[in-house]
This record gives sequence, C-alpha cells and structure tokens, in this order.
Amino acid sequence: MSLFEYKSVDKYFYEREIKDFLPERIIDAHTHVYSRLNRDPAYKESLANRSQNWPTLVASENPIEDLDETYRLMFPGKKVTPVIFGMPGFQYSVSKSNAYISQAAKNAGYPALVLAYPAQSAAEFEAELLGGGFKGAKVYLDYAPAYIPGNEVRIFDFAPHHQLEVLDRHGLVLMLHIPRPRRLNDPVNIEQMLEIDRRYPNIKLIIAHIGRAYAPEDLGGALERLKPSRMTFDFSANTNQQIFEAALATIGARRLIFGSDLPITRMRMKRIVENGVYINIVRKGSYGDVSDDPHMRETEGAQADALSFFLYEEIAAMRRACNAAGIGGGDVDAMFFGNAAKLFF
Ligand SMILES: [Zn+2]
Repeated sequence: MSLFEYKSVDKYFYEREIKDFLPERIIDAHTHVYSRLNRDPAYKESLANRSQNWPTLVASENPIEDLDETYRLMFPGKKVTPVIFGMPGFQYSVSKSNAYISQAAKNAGYPALVLAYPAQSAAEFEAELLGGGFKGAKVYLDYAPAYIPGNEVRIFDFAPHHQLEVLDRHGLVLMLHIPRPRRLNDPVNIEQMLEIDRRYPNIKLIIAHIGRAYAPEDLGGALERLKPSRMTFDFSANTNQQIFEAALATIGARRLIFGSDLPITRMRMKRIVENGVYINIVRKGSYGDVSDDPHMRETEGAQADALSFFLYEEIAAMRRACNAAGIGGGDVDAMFFGNAAKLFF
C-alpha cells in the first residue's frame, strides 16, 4: 500500500507547474523526521496545551523511510537531499529523537540539526551537537520556560546566549522558528534577530517559514529592517506569492532557501488569506474536528476533489513569484540547491 494517496490531480499539478521549474538536484532544508518509537511514555494527550489534532492526521510519524518514500512519490525523477531534525514538542523524548536523527543522517549521508532546549548547559548542548555530527541546532518556542505566557515568549527565552555562543564558536547553523503573534513584523523579534546576527557573526542563521509571514499584514517593514543582515530565510510551509515577491525583491534569491516542513505539507489543502488571517481549505472531515480552529475551513464536492498537496502549493506559489519578478535559471537553482549547499556541506 502506498504511504499516501497520489491522485491524477497531483500528477497533473506536478507536470504542469512544478517539474520543469525545479532543478534536478534539490536540497530540502526543513524536514521533521520522527518515529513513534521515540514517543515519551510520560506524555499525556490531556496535558497538551490546546494542541490541534489535525497534524497527527496528516502523519502520525515520519520515520526516515517515509520521508524518502514521500520524495519518490512527489518528486519523480528528482534527487532530493533533506536536512533532517526531530519534531519539537513534548510528545517525543528529545534525547531519543536526537540519537535517532543522528543515526539516520549518518546512514543516508544527510545533514541534520540537533533539537536543543534552553535548560541544557553549554557543555551538554555542545556534547550532543558535536557528538552526533550535527550541522547546527533547531530551537523551538515550546521549550521556553513554562511560566512565560505563549504570546510573550521571546527568542532568547528558547535560544539562550550560552548555546548561541557554542554555535558561533563552531560556525554552525541556527534554524529559528520565531515566536509572537505579530510574527515577522514583531519589533521584539526583529531586534533579537538582528542581535543574533550582530553578536554571533559565525552563526548561519536561517529564519524558518520567512518568519511565519503568511499574510501581507505580517510583513510591515520587516524585510527592509532585516535586509542589511546576513540571515537567510526558508520558505517552507508558506504559500503566499505576494510574500515571496516581496522577499525576492528585498532579500533576494541568494538568501532564500527551499524547505518543505514535511511531513505536514503532505496535507491536501489550498490556503487563502482573509483579513490578515491565513485559512487552510480542506476536504470536510478529512482532518478531524476543526470547528474551533480559525486557520481551517472545510469544503466539499468539486472544490475538495481539486485539492492537492500543501507542498505543491508552496512550490507553485514560488514559481509564480519568480515569473512575476523575472527570476529564473541560476537564481532558482540557488534557492532549491546552492544556497543550502553553502550552509550544510
Ligand atoms: Zn518545521
């Protein structure tokens, strides 16, 4: 049985909009690889903080074999090298996840990032980072101290200076998913991103999902503020052509990096923006009860039948943005391969 259904609508989408746009060799700089074997037995679903159910319905786990199979199904004829890291959150044991990722990366020759949490001392963090052969760290806001309200978490609460010093000393990557409701245009985020760039000149900083700017309202003047820095941006799990055009115009193709955020982008959906809020249109019933999620809306019939993968929507939006901006050839290759190769190989 196939890992997931691949329909004629997907094949048509791939052949028409994606295949010829993508280079033959691709680096996917943002993937989550995790096995049910690494679940934390102490984790209780009921203790989860309003966690949504639907990501689990897209993929309950994503062991390395499943990731490889996903590329085989979704990108026939292409050679994709992923950068792999665990799934952050409390459902999985961080140390077991990191050990699993390290081994999988060694076996396949893939670059990998260590999941770091702020309570780790510099020595503990450095030992796990170097011992596992990791190319850098993936940090996550959920690991900030529990007393800080979710909307108030700041970058240094989960990417502490003692760990940034270690990354800087070794010239490694920091993959940063920024916090806070105002996303990329949050003044606290902007200051702290610029502070990392200034204080740690050897860190290769990647801002995930273009700073979670999924709607034009999330952008403000942030890209202009961040332009003079060295930081790069992955556009994983983002499908907004307007954001991509703004990033290409301001930051430029040489600082934009393809990432998939697999397995979540195996989801079938189309994303729209209404009043500054992104909404994923999905088939009715396919992702459980989403009635209390402002980012999910259900559809049926022909509109539902036409839905393809989140990941295809991301790449097609970047293709349209490149066409609109007159960007092609070497710049597209750089976004899908060369820029990441410089950071990870
Ligand atoms: Zn991610």
